[in-house]
Amino acid sequence: MKRINKQCLNCGEEFLPKTVTSVYCSHICSKKAYKVKMKGLKNEAELKALADKIPENRAFLSVPEAGMLFGIAKRTLYRLVGQGKIPSVNLGTRLVRIDLRVMEGIFGPARALPQAQSAPKKKLYSLEKEDCYSIGEIAQRFQISEGSVYNHIRKYSIPTRQIGKHVYAPKMEIDNLYNGNDFI
Ligand SMILES: [Zn+2]
Repeated sequence: MKRINKQCLNCGEEFLPKTVTSVYCSHICSKKAYKVKMKGLKNEAELKALADKIPENRAFLSVPEAGMLFGIAKRTLYRLVGQGKIPSVNLGTRLVRIDLRVMEGIFGPARALPQAQSAPKKKLYSLEKEDCYSIGEIAQRFQISEGSVYNHIRKYSIPTRQIGKHVYAPKMEIDNLYNGNDFI
C-alpha cells in the first residue's frame, strides 16, 4: 500500500512517514520539537513559581512580577520604566517597584495566574521578635537608610512593634517588600 506524505510538525516539509504515527521528518526535527516542548514546560513551571510568591492584594510589584502579571517581556518593561513611560518608585538601590494600578491603567487588567493549589492562606504575620527584623537590621540587610525604611513602613502600612529601644517589623512583610530579583 502506498504511504502518503505527511507534513513535518517542526519544519513543515513534506516527508514520507516511516510509521503511521510519525509526525516529524527526521530525528533532528523530532529533537528540536522535544526541546521546544521542554522549554515551554520549564517556562510554565517558572511562571507558576513566581506567581505563587506574589501575595494577594500586593499593591507594588517588582519588574519581573509586573511583566508576568501583564504578559510583557521583562526587558521591555525595564526599558519603559527607564524611559519614564511607566511611572515607578525606587525603594532603594535597584529596587524598582511599579504600582499595580499604574500597570492596569496602561495595560488593562492583570492576567489570571495559576495559583497555588491550596486554599488562599490568610495573611498572617508574627510580631514575635524572632520573626522580625529591627529597623537597623533592615537598613543593613537591604542597604537603605533607616529613614527610608521608616518611610516605606508607613507608606505600605507594615505593622511594627517596639521592644525596648528598637522598632521591629515582620520579616515576612519586609522580605516581600524588598526582595525581588529585579536587578537592573
Ligand atoms: Zn522536519
